[in-house]
Amino acid sequence: MSALEQSESTAEANGAPPAAGGRIAVENPATGEVIGQVDDMGAEQVKDMVARARLAQPGWEALGFDGRAEVMLELRHWFVQNRDRVLDLLVKENGKTREDALLAELFYVCDALGFWAKRARKYLADERIKTHSLLLLGKKVMVRHRPRGVVGVIGPWNYPLTNSFGDCIPALMAGNAVVLKPSEVTPLTNLMLADAALECGAPADAFCVATGGGGTGAALVENVDMIHFTGSTRTGRKVAIEAAQRLIPCSLELGGKDPMIVLRDADVDRAANMAVQWAMANSGQICIAVERVYVEEPVYDEFVGKVLARTRELRQGPPGEPGQVDVGAMTFPPQVETVRSHVQDAVDKGAQVLAGGKAVDGPGQFFEPTVLTGVDHTMKIMTEETFGPTLPIMKVRDADEAVRLANDSRYGLNSSVFSKDLAKGERVARRLHAGNACVNDALMNYLALEAPFGGSNESGLGARHGAPGIRKYCATQTILVTRFGPKRELTMFPNTAWKAKAFEKLMVLAWGRRRRKKR
Ligand code: NAD
Repeated sequence: MSALEQSESTAEANGAPPAAGGRIAVENPATGEVIGQVDDMGAEQVKDMVARARLAQPGWEALGFDGRAEVMLELRHWFVQNRDRVLDLLVKENGKTREDALLAELFYVCDALGFWAKRARKYLADERIKTHSLLLLGKKVMVRHRPRGVVGVIGPWNYPLTNSFGDCIPALMAGNAVVLKPSEVTPLTNLMLADAALECGAPADAFCVATGGGGTGAALVENVDMIHFTGSTRTGRKVAIEAAQRLIPCSLELGGKDPMIVLRDADVDRAANMAVQWAMANSGQICIAVERVYVEEPVYDEFVGKVLARTRELRQGPPGEPGQVDVGAMTFPPQVETVRSHVQDAVDKGAQVLAGGKAVDGPGQFFEPTVLTGVDHTMKIMTEETFGPTLPIMKVRDADEAVRLANDSRYGLNSSVFSKDLAKGERVARRLHAGNACVNDALMNYLALEAPFGGSNESGLGARHGAPGIRKYCATQTILVTRFGPKRELTMFPNTAWKAKAFEKLMVLAWGRRRRKKR
């Protein structure tokens, strides 16, 4: 029986509430129904799993880029063949719409499997270094990227596939074994993948899934050779501290409070559509969701009117057939309270709720798509990550004020600027303290797998995608080769006065003259 079948059969036998003694119940957030149970793995189980992955790693590495790419492409085929099963499970455990599961998860992962299968070899090819040093004349210097061993990947609940398995793909293509710890809120899709990887030719234990809560994640950090973490800034900090204690590298993809700036010469229709789309999609539970908007005075009323009209058209409810709803459930029960408290805090401080504003009565967890105006930076809704379907809009005098407010944040993940003057849009984008910025767009930079995606400030450390997105899973090794060396070089013993003089002369000759200042 597969790991996933085991989880389902126990759920059927048990019927409902969270199991005691090391089991975690998984709920469908749109209905409240328990759909599975998984192990809450303890430290010993995690240690054992990492040890097995360590044994499997050399065999996986030995397959080479071609062998590993074959498994990845087989997996991509598996995803396409099994798309209905995967989508059903994603929708059930996360509460998101089928469209979000299809485009932002399944489509992304299939694309990423092909991308890394093809590009890993290029990104990790040995690099010949031309060194400037006179003392190394005639010697060959190379840098190679070799797998670190066992990489741990810890993921959040908002994108169970994209932000969990998605980060395993480059780690695997680099030749590492991977142990993935998905969120305890949404572990089922990833458990299914542990079986799929085997079916597609991955050696046993080269890719494993450790289910459980925070303790399981902490145990993983204690045992692996490198950790990639996606989740909240609060937990990311704990992971970084533990990684520092162990002196293992970590890469962190954390929270955000992404600003959108709408300048007076923007295409207001496009900006309003983008704002509603990327504030409300996946119920706003996207790390790079539009979380706050600054609009220049001359187009403020028009923008607010258009945003309101689009928001009122949104259909919310339990996800069903394709095209049935636009906004699904809130995945994680405590998140509803966070959103409610941010809206309440804003209202208490003088904000107006123009649409939505409250949680919807169950079954299931939903929060109405909400638009607020009259907001400012004394309010949590403008400064803390809300992670819900909210769109607070603030009027600003000019672009300078918009930039100042956008940068008034401890986060720095994504950002966007709308202007028909592309040069101006780009100039403003370059002033934003964010790891990523779009002009006349939002979020789409995430699909450019060739370009690094990472956060600045408290939004993260390191990057996924592009060369850094796979090299981080490797240790570099610099190799120097001397082909035709004399028996004894000038830099070797014995130390003599004439050699010391010669090196001194060389130094004076090379760097002894003061550089003339350029006028
Ligand atoms: P979280 O920090 O609560 O949990 C993330 C993961 O960490 C879970 O698997 C959890 O079990 C595990 N964990 C908890 N304590 C741990 C510990 N001490 N050591 C190791 N692991 C531990 O985050 P969440 O609520 O699941 O996800 C939402 C957050 O993720 C939001 O802040 C969102 O912005 C962020 N996120 C960021 C990105 C990005 O790319 N920057 C993408 C998706 C989500």
